[in-house]
Amino acid sequence: MSESNDISLTLYNSLTRAQEVFEPVHPGEARVYTCGPTVYNYPHIGNMRAYVFADTLGRTLSFKGYKLTHVINITDVGHLTDDADAGEDKMEKMAAEKSQSIWDIARHYSEAYWDDVKALGIRQPAHWSIATDYVEQMIAYAKGIADKHCYELESGLYFDVSTVADYGRLARAVTDDGEGRIDTVEGKRNAADFAIWRKTPEGESRQMEWDSPWGKGAPGWHLECSVMSEALLGFPFDIHTGGIDHREIHHPNEIAQNQAHSCSDHSGARFWMHNNFLIAREGKMSKSAGEFLRVQLLIDKGFHPFAYRLMCLQAHYRSELEFSWDNLAAAFTRLKRMVMQVGTLRARLDDSFDADMAIHHPKITAFLHDFDLAMSDDLNSSKALTVFEELLGLKKIDAAQKMAALLKMDTVLGLDLATLQRADLRTRPKSAALSEADIETQLAARKQARVDKDFARSDEIRDSLSAQGIEVMDGDPLGWDWKLSI
Ligand code: AMP
Ligand code: ZN
Repeated sequence: MSESNDISLTLYNSLTRAQEVFEPVHPGEARVYTCGPTVYNYPHIGNMRAYVFADTLGRTLSFKGYKLTHVINITDVGHLTDDADAGEDKMEKMAAEKSQSIWDIARHYSEAYWDDVKALGIRQPAHWSIATDYVEQMIAYAKGIADKHCYELESGLYFDVSTVADYGRLARAVTDDGEGRIDTVEGKRNAADFAIWRKTPEGESRQMEWDSPWGKGAPGWHLECSVMSEALLGFPFDIHTGGIDHREIHHPNEIAQNQAHSCSDHSGARFWMHNNFLIAREGKMSKSAGEFLRVQLLIDKGFHPFAYRLMCLQAHYRSELEFSWDNLAAAFTRLKRMVMQVGTLRARLDDSFDADMAIHHPKITAFLHDFDLAMSDDLNSSKALTVFEELLGLKKIDAAQKMAALLKMDTVLGLDLATLQRADLRTRPKSAALSEADIETQLAARKQARVDKDFARSDEIRDSLSAQGIEVMDGDPLGWDWKLSI
C-alpha cells in the first residue's frame, strides 16, 4: 500500500448521484470494467477522453495501493447505429460501405485504437475482451434469463424492462419518448425493451451470425458487457466506466440484465462512473464536418499526443471539455515547461538516484499528501497538477527526494516524465516542407545575420520560415527557438 493510504478514495457514483467512499468488493483489490470502442471506424479524440479517464482512474487505484484488474472490451458485433434498437449494425454497415469483411474492418480499427491507446500513454489493461470471443457465453446467459425476462418477436429476443425492479434508475429519466426510443420495433411491450438477440431476417444472411435457440443471428450490444464483465471480474465487481451517453441506455440495459441474471436487485457494479464529453465548437468530431479529429491529426499537426492527455487532465472528468487548437497549444506549452524543468532536475542527480527510495523529507511528503488528497477527491486531476507544479518549482530542496516524489505523482498523471525529453516533444508536422535540420540551418543563418546587423536578411529568413509554417520565437522564456504555427 502507498504511504498515503490513510486518505480514503471517494468517487462520484452515477447510480446514487453522490460522491462515496470506495470500498472494494475484495479487500485490497479493484476490479474495473470499461466499455470499449465499437471498431467500425477510427476513434476520435472525444472517444479517447473516455479511455484517458478510465486510465487515470486505474492509475489512481494503483497509486492508492489497490491491486488493479482492468478490463476494456472491444465491440466487434451488435452495436447498432442507434444505441437502442433501431438502425443497422455499425460493423455490418461499414463493411458493406468499404466492401470488406467485418473481420478485416474489426482488425484494422482495433489496431488503430490500440495505436491511440499507446500514443496517449494509456496503460494496457489486464484483458482486452473481444465481444465475438464470448458469443457462446452470451447465448448461455440469454438462455438463463429468457423464460422470466424476455419475449420473442420476429426480429429477435427482447428483454422486458418491466420484469426488473427500478429499471432506468441510473438514467433517472426514462420516458417512452426519450432519446433513442423513437424508432421502436413493432410488438415491443415497453418502449425501453431492447434486443438481446437479433435474428437474421428470413432469406438473408449476415457476415457475422451464430446459431441460437432463437434462430441464426447475432447478440445485442448490451448483452456483451454484462457477460464479459461477469466472466472476467466476477459478480458484483467494483467500478464500471463509460462515457456519459452510456448512462442513458447502454448501462441501464446492462443493469437490467445483471439484475435478471443474478436474481437480485444488484446493478452488478458498486460504482458506475461516467466521463463527460469532449466537445468541438466547430461541430462534430468525426469526418462529416471536415477534419476528423483523431490523435493522428494532432500528431500530423505537430503536437505531441501527451499534450492532449494533459488537456484532459486539466479538466475534471465530469465536466464538459471544449476542444480548440488554442487549448491544445496551451496544454502543449505547459507540458514543455514540465519536461524542461524535470530535465534540469534530472541533470542534478547522479547515478545512485533510486526512483523508488522512501520519501521522508517532511516538506516533500506534504506535497505528496496534497496530491493524494486531490486525486482521492473524485480524481481532481487539475488540482493534482497544480500540486505537482508547485513541487516542481520548489527551490533549494533535496533533488533526489523531490524527483522521487514527482515520479511517484507521475505514475498517476501518466506523462512519462522519467524518460520524456525536450527533443521528443518536437513532433514534425506531416505538412512540414522543412526538415528539422533545414530549420536549424536557417535559424543559424539568421543568428549570424543579426550578429552582422543585417536585419533585412534576418527578417527575410524569419518571413520565409513563417511562410513554411515555422514561427521564430525570439526571447521565448522557455528558450525555444521556434514553434509550428497552427
Ligand atoms: P463508442 O465507440 O461509440 O462506443 O464510444 C467509445 C466511448 O467514447 C464511449 O465510452 C462513449 O461514451 C465515449 N464518447 C463518445 N463520444 C465522446 C465525446 N465526444 N467525449 C467523450 N467521450 C465520448
Ligand atoms: Zn458496454
